[in-house]
Amino acid sequence: MSKADLIAIAEAAMNDMNSTPVRKIVHVDMDAFYASVEQRDNPELRGKPIAVGGSAARGVVAAASYEARKYGVHSAMPSVTAKRKCPELIFVPPRFDVYKAVSQQIREIFAEYTPLIEPLSLDEAYLDVTENLKGMEIATEIALEIRTRIKQATGLNASAGISYNKFLAKMASDLNKPNGQAVITPKNGPAFVESLSVKKFHGVGPATAEKMHRLGIDTGADLKEQTLEFLVDHFGKSGPYFYGIARGIDERQVKPNRVRKSVGAEDTFPQDLHTYDPAREGLQPLIEKVWSYCEANGIAAKTVTLKVKYADFNQITRSKTVPVPLAAIGDLEDIVSFLLASIFPPRKGIRLLGVSLSSLERTASTAEPQLRLAL
Ligand SMILES: [Mg+2]
Repeated sequence: MSKADLIAIAEAAMNDMNSTPVRKIVHVDMDAFYASVEQRDNPELRGKPIAVGGSAARGVVAAASYEARKYGVHSAMPSVTAKRKCPELIFVPPRFDVYKAVSQQIREIFAEYTPLIEPLSLDEAYLDVTENLKGMEIATEIALEIRTRIKQATGLNASAGISYNKFLAKMASDLNKPNGQAVITPKNGPAFVESLSVKKFHGVGPATAEKMHRLGIDTGADLKEQTLEFLVDHFGKSGPYFYGIARGIDERQVKPNRVRKSVGAEDTFPQDLHTYDPAREGLQPLIEKVWSYCEANGIAAKTVTLKVKYADFNQITRSKTVPVPLAAIGDLEDIVSFLLASIFPPRKGIRLLGVSLSSLERTASTAEPQLRLAL
């Protein structure tokens, strides 16, 4: 899509805004989900700093309990770092079957209110409750009722954000976490965004935040000062999204049963890599990240792609497709190692590595609810 097209589409969407009725979006997010499930099921873990996933020696933390977060432990942190920050940290192996079952329970509760449910992961979803099955007028009441029902059914706490679009609902669910909810109204939305650091924006990752910082954009107010053209110049397809959210505008619909085409993770290294071992090591957290995402979302993949960006910014990919979906993380590790070996010795230093999975299939347990909905 050309830059002019992007700008024209974004401008048309902004103009449409005035004619679209206000929507009511709820973002529900379970509190420290995996860790809370483990503490629920094992009383000995309650009140203690725990990390789900990883081990004291290797891997990354998939989820940390609130007790662990006080020490600065958070998800995606290397386990070794986590253990250093919190020596009493207890590592608990993940039980995805249990998390999936709880996720199913909460989705059944959501479905009593609206068919417009868009899960972001096992423990998070957007709900469009503008027209809802209970005929309830007030979205904050719906959110409160859903959280109460979740607590009764699962024993777990959820937080919620209520607003007139997905971006603000997502931002709002963090405001009174844990076990709380917050509403952002059309009246206070723009001011809320202006005061916020762009680092906190959903859709602005660390690399983008850094780029924005270099451009002198640190807050929503800074972002709002930029023209649409400037943002498209610097951020391409994300430009119109950033232009909108800086004004509290986000026209994305709540899309039920989103099926992804690929799942990927990548990382830029502080220093270019020239030898195999550090490169393979750098890939391990990415492998674990995409694998746990797939596991958590009931997805299996047949194609593995390794992305390599060299110091001169040239980029190559190497893929391998297997006849049946990968069943174990060990299979993924083997294929990634094989693909990585195939590009060694590298023609330049390696700046970035990425792993993605495609040719995705739903595994049986999560295909079920969709079938039931269809009936
Ligand atoms: Mg959560």
